[in-house]
Amino acid sequence: MTVAPGATATVAPGSAPPVWQPAAGAFWSGVWRDGDSSFPVYDPEDGALLGYVTDASAADVDAAVTSVAAAVHEGPAWPAWSRREALRTAASLVRERRALFTEVISREGSKTVREADAEVSRAAETLRLSAEQAGRLTGETLPFGDTPRGQDRLGWYTREPVGVVAAITPFNDPLNLIAHKLGPALVAGNGVVLKPAETTPFTALAFMAVLLDAGVPAERLAVVPGAGSTAGQALVSHPLVDLVSFTGGHRTGNAVARAAGARKTLMELGGNNCVIVLADAEVSRAARAVVAGAFGVAGQNCLSVQRVFVAAELAERFTEDVVTATRLLRVGSKRDPLTDVGPMIEEREAVRVAAWVEEARERGAEIRAGGRREGAFHWPTVLTRVPAGTRLMTDEVFGPALVINAFDSVDDAVRQANSTEFGLQAGVFTGSIDRALDLAERLRVGAVMINDSSDFRIDAMPFGGPKRSGVGREGVRYAVEAMTEPKIVAIRRC
Ligand code: NAD
Repeated sequence: MTVAPGATATVAPGSAPPVWQPAAGAFWSGVWRDGDSSFPVYDPEDGALLGYVTDASAADVDAAVTSVAAAVHEGPAWPAWSRREALRTAASLVRERRALFTEVISREGSKTVREADAEVSRAAETLRLSAEQAGRLTGETLPFGDTPRGQDRLGWYTREPVGVVAAITPFNDPLNLIAHKLGPALVAGNGVVLKPAETTPFTALAFMAVLLDAGVPAERLAVVPGAGSTAGQALVSHPLVDLVSFTGGHRTGNAVARAAGARKTLMELGGNNCVIVLADAEVSRAARAVVAGAFGVAGQNCLSVQRVFVAAELAERFTEDVVTATRLLRVGSKRDPLTDVGPMIEEREAVRVAAWVEEARERGAEIRAGGRREGAFHWPTVLTRVPAGTRLMTDEVFGPALVINAFDSVDDAVRQANSTEFGLQAGVFTGSIDRALDLAERLRVGAVMINDSSDFRIDAMPFGGPKRSGVGREGVRYAVEAMTEPKIVAIRRC
């Protein structure tokens, strides 16, 4: 394993550095760097200090971007076959280091060990899919002869890397969402500067070590941990960055877009996903899927189910099933393999969710399960009869709170489902293929899961949504396309 040379994590007096901490620095030009200042990283479960990480300054970001740009534009070529080999090796190394990644993700992040372990498999899969794209970086010949002005020409286009990709990532899938940016960017022939979430930097640093050990040219890689308002802003506004690939909240996305200005951007933003349960649905199956989709990772998942619209005649039976399954969820330590729901990423996030639940209750909603908070833990909460206009109905809660509202007409359910500014994914439960296809057409979202909740994704599908849920699509092949651009060569016959 690559241990950062000289990257001494400064740990509070009396506490030993965590054994899993592979690096604590920023990295560029092939060197791990301590930087002038650092920031602390805590375990959200008990507030334990895990270590300090370099807090990259604007000058650090400038040096990192400049070095990657030089490597990409003036450094040695990195052929596609070698990129494929490196990403395949990286996939194997992630699998080999499963225990380390599971530990790091579940300590600094809010995932349970089971959820962290599942993410490691996903990240290896994302890297494998990225490696496969090396053989698919093809263009096509162009029909110059189709017009009199072009008849003496012959030509084609190829797909060229965009250059320097700035990757900004959130905390909730701290490994796989980095793999979703760096895998496609690297296989396409780009260089990358990564700014991971402040709360989960150690996972990012361990992943950088994987890429270096896998043979990715060190000069094409940089990581600049730090605050969004400093390192993040300096990165997305840097003149040598050719494409900004951002995943995070909608409000942050607006700040990133303003700072990036008119340049290529990919944005994966939030959701307020819904599930529609029609009168002919299999109730227990729908309830099981909704509970799993609402409360995994304590609801901190862009695909989480937040609102359910259920046919009035089924509403009570469905709600009972959901409430029963929710009460069976074990809330507890992330380190216990039997835990279903761990803490939120920070106590203030749990406080915010509790405030949103309270707002709905004050305006007439009924709390059927949960509604309790202790520190960073917010119990999985089910609410019914939640009025329109409450934050739970309009905004992204990104926490363990689920709305179940009954509907009398399918048209009304569709109208309510489409009424938020987000449009990531939706689920529909029905026994009728005609009704399923009708709803698939009418829901304004990026994906409709029939007889499943909104919370389903494979890493090869085009991922993203209309409205404020993002700009462009990720999903390995689609990210590769966005991170390359066509270049035409035309030959004029003499
Ligand atoms: P966030 O928006 O708070 O932060 C995301 C990243 O942006 C972090 O690295 C942060 O440091 C950085 N950042 C913050 N301010 C910045 C600025 N001004 N300039 C540049 N960078 C800045 O998001 P979060 O709380 O870490 O993650 C939760 C959000 O991410 C949710 O809204 C969720 O829906 C979204 N998300 C979306 C997807 C998707 O694929 N659509 C996937 C996961 C998470």
